[in-house]
Amino acid sequence: MRKIIALLIATCLAMLGFGAFQVAPAQAAQSYTFLYGHESNPQYAARWNRCSTIKWGVDGALLTSIGVNVPAEIARLKTVFQEATTTSGYRFKYKGQITRKATLTGGHIKSSAYSRAGGLDIVITYGSASSAGAYTYPTFSGGVWGVGGTRARYARIRGGNHIGLRAQKGSLVLRADAVKQSVQNGQTDLVRALYLHELGHALGLGHVDNSDEIMYPSLTGEFSDYQAGDAAGLRALHSQTCFA
Ligand SMILES: [Zn+2]
Repeated sequence: MRKIIALLIATCLAMLGFGAFQVAPAQAAQSYTFLYGHESNPQYAARWNRCSTIKWGVDGALLTSIGVNVPAEIARLKTVFQEATTTSGYRFKYKGQITRKATLTGGHIKSSAYSRAGGLDIVITYGSASSAGAYTYPTFSGGVWGVGGTRARYARIRGGNHIGLRAQKGSLVLRADAVKQSVQNGQTDLVRALYLHELGHALGLGHVDNSDEIMYPSLTGEFSDYQAGDAAGLRALHSQTCFA
């Protein structure tokens, strides 16, 4: 039995559009799952447009206030996005620091966070259960260290009349005191695994039962890179046709 360090949760954001596809349930255990649309078929799962560069930004205000080196965390996030590019094929661009947090209601990320975030596709913020004010996330009580997810809506696929679920607004909300403690303890691999996991959700991956994958719902401290199943899931999403 592996030691569980932290719990990681996926957001379940509402999908906009025409309603769910009628599809059969998955037949066999998978080395990856998808978060929205369909659990195992990438054709029906929510995915980003592979023909666009995905822009991301970071609100590190709470980290700064508790004495964490924000440039070091941004550098770590850049290596995580680089790994996501190498693993999946998606292209990302860092757009700088922002001052807008992602808003959670009942553990879900509110869409209004994005319209205020200046054209970013993925917003990364840090929060805490105990800090007063704008960065309070009650979700981070107990063992939860991160929340990740994306919104998706139906959109036309290039070269025909088919539609697919297009991911449009992703977010990662990360527990500031856990990041601080891990860095202080020299457990930067744990922070890296947290970032990879929540980014995996923002890119459309769901949880797996296999504790040998980054998308296992708890941090085990054993891995700090996407594993074979994670990579297969990301590649499957990226290999789908572009949106129009
Ligand atoms: Zn998760």
